[in-house]
Amino acid sequence: MPTDRPPLLVSIVIAAYNESACLAELHAELRAALDPLAFEFEFLFVDDGSEDQTLAVLADLRERDARVRYISLSRNFGHQAALTAGLEHARGDAVVTLDADMQHPPRVIPRLLEAWQEGYDVVNTLRVRTEEIAAHTRLFSTVFYRVFNWAANIQVQPGAADFRLMSRRTVDVLISLREVHRFLRGLVPWLGFRQTYIEFVAPPRFAGSSKFTFWRSLRLALDGITAFSFYPLRRVTIFGWAIALASCAYGLYAVGAHFFGHRNVAGWTSLLLCILFFGGCQLIVAGVLGEYLGRVLEQVKSRPLYVIREAVGLKTAGARDALELAAADRHAAPVILQAFSEKGRSDVDHARAA
Ligand code: UDP
Ligand code: MG
Repeated sequence: MPTDRPPLLVSIVIAAYNESACLAELHAELRAALDPLAFEFEFLFVDDGSEDQTLAVLADLRERDARVRYISLSRNFGHQAALTAGLEHARGDAVVTLDADMQHPPRVIPRLLEAWQEGYDVVNTLRVRTEEIAAHTRLFSTVFYRVFNWAANIQVQPGAADFRLMSRRTVDVLISLREVHRFLRGLVPWLGFRQTYIEFVAPPRFAGSSKFTFWRSLRLALDGITAFSFYPLRRVTIFGWAIALASCAYGLYAVGAHFFGHRNVAGWTSLLLCILFFGGCQLIVAGVLGEYLGRVLEQVKSRPLYVIREAVGLKTAGARDALELAAADRHAAPVILQAFSEKGRSDVDHARAA
């Protein structure tokens, strides 16, 4: 059936931190996989404060392909913040997020688009196998997913990647969530709507090295668990009660032994062990409380999730854009407006009143 509707726009959002060696090849693969399709595309790169030639390579790609747009953050804000910046500036009817190192192969994107066309709002991906992955990384990932799914109030599939397609309405809801410590693999299942999973094999990194050190991965894992579960807090309370009750029982026993039994001289070693053990337990409990309290503090401060140094090929967030978007799509407006600063919002209010 002939139709004169313009083709749907799909945004490809790529977070890149020191990925200059991968970007040209990624762009070529994206073109090879996507150019034959009947969609319009924008390639939105987010340079996450790279110290290498990433920005220069992006400028070069932009010269050659006007669909390339990019945002450069003022410093390294982390993968989740960089993806959020991309999601907030993507204009597509659907948005696909993927890594810059080709571990999320562009040739899988047509399958994501197919599932979207079948009516799914979110098409997630699962790494069924990662070639050349270090054993300790695999172990860390397995332990993390076990702990997360045991503790959290939502379920994340083991092997889930930040490689997914989201429809416009799910992106709008996602960017309205202003959590400072973002764990997108948890937030996206939380959104609901119709979601599905597609499996893929992750090839080795095309060039460069992984940006996720053990400590960075651990921080992300803690963000994920604390954002979706009070379980550690509840467990330490139960633990405290268990120790308190055990010490009461021991006290009763000691009184009984004093009056009815033989009197033993208390051993220094057992005393010292007890003091150290319970001292350690108290520090663990304080540490768990601290993990939550620190995050509450960060959230209360509610600093922006990222700062943009330069944006090429797109308008940055501001009252003007908000008004244009609001005029273009009245349903999206309330959600989009929340994404702007207080100043931006009051500008919009004034403009509306005028
Ligand atoms: N990344 C980023 N900011 C960071 C760390 C990573 O934007 O602070 C990007 C990185 O450039 C890559 C993606 O996030 O495109 C995934 O990182 P990486 O491939 O190093 O992680 P791994 O695949 O080893 O888990
Ligand atoms: Mg990678």
